[in-house]
Amino acid sequence: MAQDQTLTRQERSSALGYATNPLDRVAQFRDNPAKQSEFAADPRRLELILEGDHPFFRFDGQDYGLWFTPQQADAIGASHLTVFLGLLDGIPTFARAHAARQPEQPAPTGYFTSDLRSIAVQGLMPAAELGILAQAKSLIGWHRAHAFCAKCGSATTPAGGGWKRECTSCKAQHFPRTDPVSIMLVIDGDRCLLGRQAHFVAQSYSCLAGFIEPGETLEDAVRREVYEEAGIEVSAVRYLCNQPWPFPSSLMIGCLAQAKTHDIVMDAEELEDARWFTREDVRGMLTRTHPQGLICPPPIAIAHSLMQAWAFENITV
Ligand SMILES: [Zn+2]
Repeated sequence: MAQDQTLTRQERSSALGYATNPLDRVAQFRDNPAKQSEFAADPRRLELILEGDHPFFRFDGQDYGLWFTPQQADAIGASHLTVFLGLLDGIPTFARAHAARQPEQPAPTGYFTSDLRSIAVQGLMPAAELGILAQAKSLIGWHRAHAFCAKCGSATTPAGGGWKRECTSCKAQHFPRTDPVSIMLVIDGDRCLLGRQAHFVAQSYSCLAGFIEPGETLEDAVRREVYEEAGIEVSAVRYLCNQPWPFPSSLMIGCLAQAKTHDIVMDAEELEDARWFTREDVRGMLTRTHPQGLICPPPIAIAHSLMQAWAFENITV
């Protein structure tokens, strides 16, 4: 189904980066060879290009263009894998995987390439195209990492329009995966817990986060992560919103969490710092007006939305 804009507008998740996707994935036609052939042969067919992990665009100095005709894309380079993404206003769209560009080899004049995170943070593409790129990047990345069967070790080949791989030997079918990650703002009355990892940009603090483990609920994952990383025990957990995070293929599930204890015991392997911040601190970080210059992730990020909900909208656990 394509997104119903009147419905998704009301969802907190839809305001986040990579979350708006206008494609109708028509999953019911993935295993329909006649339909796939029809889509492939459609003269209106559009393709986007990923060079390795990096989207490749047309750029005229002002506007960025995501879509190419097959002839235009062939002239740019060879595709070693093409997958069906879905219908864009009825037009079949595909993602092509080209070889990664060498760092010393810039994009030719009239084109532009960059990593998807920079494209999102700099606001180079409309929200809807970021969502499509997230879908394409995660799917192509999955193919790249699953050339061999997890059951018997033989080679696998793409099938179903690119939405599964089949083993050439044991015939096992393998499907693209999405890895759930819990991300949480821990609240203690009028303060909240934020941390920073060593690789964060200077002065930046964010919500704690971690992968949900096998056999674990979202709520228990939140409690475990917060205790592991900061030594804080959590009681109630409330789900708020979620965000596709195509690095490589996570789904960030955002929660507010009620602190039960208060003394931070930080895991120095995970975090460089973890502290309680007041609502005023967080408001300053969100609006980039903090007196000490502290900042937080940009509005495209789910951490920003969780902090915004608590600091400005008085949403709590
Ligand atoms: Zn196999």
